[in-house]
Amino acid sequence: MRPTDAGVAATGSRRREMRFSGHPISPGIGIGPLYEATEPELNFQHKKIAAADIAAETARLEDAIALSRKQLIKLKSKLASLPEQSQTEIDPLIDAYLHMLGNSRLVRGARLRISDMLLGPEAAVMEEAEAQAEAILALTGSDKAGRLRRAEEVREIARRVLRNLTRLPFRNFTELKPGTILAAESLRPADAALIQPSNFAGVITAEGGADGHTAVMLRALGLPAVLGATGVLEAARPGMLAIIDGEAGTIILNPSPKSLAAAHARLAERARNQRTLARLLRVPAETSDHVKVDLQANLELPFELPMIAESGAHGIGLMRSEFIFMNRETLPDEDTQTAIYRDIIEAMDGDPVTIRVLDWGSDKEVEALADYTPDTAEANPALGLRGIRLLLRHPELFETQLAAILRASAAGPVRIMLPMVGFKSEITAAWEIYDRVWRRLKRRNIRMAEARPPLGIMIETPAAALAARHLAKHAEFFAIGTNDLTMYTLAADRSLPVGSKLYDPFEPTILRLIYETVVAATAAKIPVSLCGELASRPEATPLLFGLGIRQFSMHGNAIPRVKRAIRAVSSTQCLQLAATALELPDADSVRTLLAGD
Ligand code: PEP
Ligand code: MG
Repeated sequence: MRPTDAGVAATGSRRREMRFSGHPISPGIGIGPLYEATEPELNFQHKKIAAADIAAETARLEDAIALSRKQLIKLKSKLASLPEQSQTEIDPLIDAYLHMLGNSRLVRGARLRISDMLLGPEAAVMEEAEAQAEAILALTGSDKAGRLRRAEEVREIARRVLRNLTRLPFRNFTELKPGTILAAESLRPADAALIQPSNFAGVITAEGGADGHTAVMLRALGLPAVLGATGVLEAARPGMLAIIDGEAGTIILNPSPKSLAAAHARLAERARNQRTLARLLRVPAETSDHVKVDLQANLELPFELPMIAESGAHGIGLMRSEFIFMNRETLPDEDTQTAIYRDIIEAMDGDPVTIRVLDWGSDKEVEALADYTPDTAEANPALGLRGIRLLLRHPELFETQLAAILRASAAGPVRIMLPMVGFKSEITAAWEIYDRVWRRLKRRNIRMAEARPPLGIMIETPAAALAARHLAKHAEFFAIGTNDLTMYTLAADRSLPVGSKLYDPFEPTILRLIYETVVAATAAKIPVSLCGELASRPEATPLLFGLGIRQFSMHGNAIPRVKRAIRAVSSTQCLQLAATALELPDADSVRTLLAGD
């Protein structure tokens, strides 16, 4: 995103309404000026490099340039999915950027600053870009707007190279004016965890998938959000007015008066709907023939607790504890963790809380755990060390967390859940550690729940779903995580952009794995719930009920809609629906069935 340019705006071309689409993440209409999520201060060493290091430092520059080119080429390949008008706007800009990353004056100048002036590549690229931007601005002539734009393009491409040279820990949302729409190329889950929902009218990003952890976090915050809207940042300017529709997945930049009026009308309609949904708080969650279901909430950070209380959730079905480890320099120790868990358990006032132990790795980076992650970069982190695999390698982390949960268990009912289980051996190894910690605390007379809290597992890999009847002998409950289950079964990343159509939890293969898991849990007489994002989609509720799910856990905002969906159907209808869906060949047929077409 480039700064607002009054001169360019005056030409009129920037005033045209522009439409983009991406993943609909979280329902709601957001109207407000755009705010770019700025990266933190780009700090880098200004001190001279040694002559002996010229080759190595130049190689670092070349790597960062190559990566920047790769990112832009990827972006360009995605442009085809955009409306033609937006393509015409953005395509030449990406070409200009790619040109600047070739053997351009910028690149040649930066190389010379390394070899002749002994500057590090970060300083070399920024100083060269600044010198060129100033030279452009010093030119005379009538096209002032064009000069401003070109100078900013040079600075922008240098910032991209610099970002690729420097790995930055956190974003900075502090300069934010309330009511703005946060726009970013991508947001990591840790960035999303820093967002205060009251400060934003919504969030848009150019990258990111529908069930990635950033999406999970934004849904939990209840912010209207559209992710993975290719090309939107190239057209956007800070301060530009935007409308986002988190349900339809659309973004309108520079909306026309007609679009604005329509958005305001939808906002009013939504407020009316919300009032109707609020009335559902008092009615039971059951089918029309009175078969009850349990609707619980997923929780990422303690500040969501009031929202959860308002949602009518009956307990917390998934607390993603990794979020309390993010955005801090040191790990929370046993006392700190105990206090956090205890607060949550107390706030739920007797309703059960399921705490999932640390699931980090893959797209969930935790800076404070950097020393615990694999030394060598994994080619495919989602298929490498993650969740329980990492915890078993670092039992000291696992033990601390288990001890904290057990100490907090004195405050109310709690269950402990293991993430990313694939094999029986992982559960038995976890049991050994859990037993040891329980006995140690008992010996020390630490106050805990009278009975040892149940230890259960997530079913989120095809291996776990297929082995569910064996795993059920070692686990005290199951929770089906459809986000990862879909990703690993379909070999399609949960962060894929909307156009890819590869990641789809409605595929019958996923439904079959859910069904198999429910059958195994029922045979073993252990509880089973579903806590992936699919649980929050009301169109899926009757189907999931028909597959045997009676306990759903989702972000609090979704609970009223899911309750409405379950109250609208009978258990017989749901069973028929599931039986038919299991036999269908693909996700589209399942969706058609659910839509009743
Ligand atoms: C899941 O995979 O469905 C799940 C609930 O876990 P997470 O989204 O945290 O990976
Ligand atoms: Mg998961």
